Amino acid sequence: MWAWLTRWLRPAAPLRPPAQPATFVDPAVYGKWREANRRPLWLPVTQEGQLPGSASRFGGAPDLAADEVWPRCPHCRATMPLFLQLDVASLPAGAPMQVESGAGLVQLFGCTNCGALSEDGSAVARLLPPAARQPALMGHDTPLLTPRSIVGWQRYEQRPTGSEWDGDDLPDDEPEEAQAPWEDHHGYGRDMLGGWPSWVQYAEYPPCPVCQRPQRLLFQIASEEGLDFMFGDVGTAYLLYCSHHADQLAFSWQCT
Ligand SMILES: [Zn+2]
Ligand SMILES: [Zn+2]
Repeated sequence: MWAWLTRWLRPAAPLRPPAQPATFVDPAVYGKWREANRRPLWLPVTQEGQLPGSASRFGGAPDLAADEVWPRCPHCRATMPLFLQLDVASLPAGAPMQVESGAGLVQLFGCTNCGALSEDGSAVARLLPPAARQPALMGHDTPLLTPRSIVGWQRYEQRPTGSEWDGDDLPDDEPEEAQAPWEDHHGYGRDMLGGWPSWVQYAEYPPCPVCQRPQRLLFQIASEEGLDFMFGDVGTAYLLYCSHHADQLAFSWQCT
């Protein structure tokens, strides 16, 4: 007859132990991790215009395969302007994609008419294999972004920041670092080849559709630096690739 009473008297679940104070990473461990993950990056040296000697450029007209038509937006059918073209063979030694693929043209197209510039087709990132190519034919209404040719590269080395770290908590106030050559004076990332992305919001590495490994940065595009285009409200765009399957490219952008 006591069964119901003992059940009723059963002590409440023990209180949860008080929350542990956050464990902060040992600054020496964090510093070592940053050093061990140094990466080279290259800032593009550019010149106005679509120069005949350089196939790497922002904007302008793309080179297309002989039988190929200019990519169109699947939603509004508009011709998508070229955002970026990289001639892989002319990238500096040791640069991403140059190491794995060695040749071909990396191209990024985006719809400036309707698109959110996402992987719904309103942005297309691809590797065009080396083959006979010709400048794309243009109609009177072909949209072009102002061409700016990449005529050289400046190499730097960069350590990852806290946005790449997923260990114990980082102290809230990471010491301010002097403005790096790959940042503008607001701390936003500039145009660059390779290196660690300057994420505006959070690190985001989509898996390669073939091998599921996280992709890595090929090229970062700032708003209105080399490319005459604004991603949202002064956003930053990221062209990523798989270092095991160089033809697998992904594109995303972030803004505040
Ligand atoms: Zn469109
Ligand atoms: Zn892969």
